[in-house]
Amino acid sequence: MLRAARQGGAGVLGTLLTHWQQHAPREVILCQCGQRMSSRGRRSKGLLTTLGQVPLARSFYQCEHCRQGRFPDDQRLDIVNTAYSPGVRRLMARAGSQTQFEQAAEDLLCYAGLKVDAREIERVAEEAGRQVEQWLSDQQQQLLKTGATPSPALDPAANFYVSFDGTGVPVRKGELVGRRGKQADGSARTREAKLGCVFTQVGLDKEGYPQRDPDSTTYVGAIESSTLFGWRMYAEALRRGLDQAKTVIALTDGARYNRTIVQTYFPDATHIVDLFHAYEHLTAIAQILWGQEAKAPKAWRDLLEAGDISRLVRKAGKQLPASAKGKKSMLKQLRYFENNAQQMRYAEYREMNFFVGSGVVEAGCRTVIGERLKQSGMRWSVRGANAIIALRCCILSGRFEDFWASRTP
Ligand SMILES: [Zn+2]
Repeated sequence: MLRAARQGGAGVLGTLLTHWQQHAPREVILCQCGQRMSSRGRRSKGLLTTLGQVPLARSFYQCEHCRQGRFPDDQRLDIVNTAYSPGVRRLMARAGSQTQFEQAAEDLLCYAGLKVDAREIERVAEEAGRQVEQWLSDQQQQLLKTGATPSPALDPAANFYVSFDGTGVPVRKGELVGRRGKQADGSARTREAKLGCVFTQVGLDKEGYPQRDPDSTTYVGAIESSTLFGWRMYAEALRRGLDQAKTVIALTDGARYNRTIVQTYFPDATHIVDLFHAYEHLTAIAQILWGQEAKAPKAWRDLLEAGDISRLVRKAGKQLPASAKGKKSMLKQLRYFENNAQQMRYAEYREMNFFVGSGVVEAGCRTVIGERLKQSGMRWSVRGANAIIALRCCILSGRFEDFWASRTP
């Protein structure tokens, strides 16, 4: 029955399209070069719609002056250079952003009765991702030029968080030329995708822990330089109402480029280094001193949680390992604490009811990037990965329908 209904629907759609073409007002079609284009008769193409295949014949226009050709109907219907209707492309993009392309092809067949090739899903999803990127970058330009109108309206009393982190995405060999990596021979297998999120905090939950505003988290991300990523992060924060926020908090791990981004784009923010990263560095010191199984003494952890970093460094630094290599890594760890001491005033942050962990962005790295881009056997091109990351950020930020509505001709 469903198949019959779809077939019937496709027939009706075909008739409607023909009717629409016959009753369209006659327009003069102008070429980009300014000359008038003339009709060269009709050409047919098959169009896959959500109802199934619909045959479509539309007029082909050509410029006598520069020989450029054009299908004006294709432009009106948003099907230039494609055999898929916008509705089908929207499904392909969504499906391809969610799971591997082969799986997405099976899902579309099962859920929507659409038979499309996995490679086509890949192509359409990546194209949509690049359009999302273009849409974001247009908005970004606009925001930076004219200032922000936050949407949705921001509660100025809410604590406003920006948080970012990186995660490795496995890429093809050609994308790694000249890059040093973590493999034993110094080669790399991944490129770092940076992910940022913006969220707000409404206060504390019943147990007294900071509570995130439900649905307040939006994501941006890409494999790109920290400078470009800084702009991306800043534009997203502006869009979310950075200007209106009274209290801005930047939550990061202690990586150096993170500090640069905070200092450059969020100079008024309270910068907090994730407490759990700090714990890990403390454990690393214990392991250098006492072996792989060692844990950091409670006294150290108490000092860290109190934010008393200078005492912590003095205490932990009293004993240096004998070997030169051990000494070197020990000093490196101690330097991490010294460099980040200002961002580790945890007692103070607790007093202010701030989040001190970057769990939100770390979970984001898993959901937005890991689950789709880091499955076994995957090797991405940077261009393809960035398109899918853009698409996923858009969908998981709840903005995909806005994007799709914005591109309707
Ligand atoms: Zn022309």
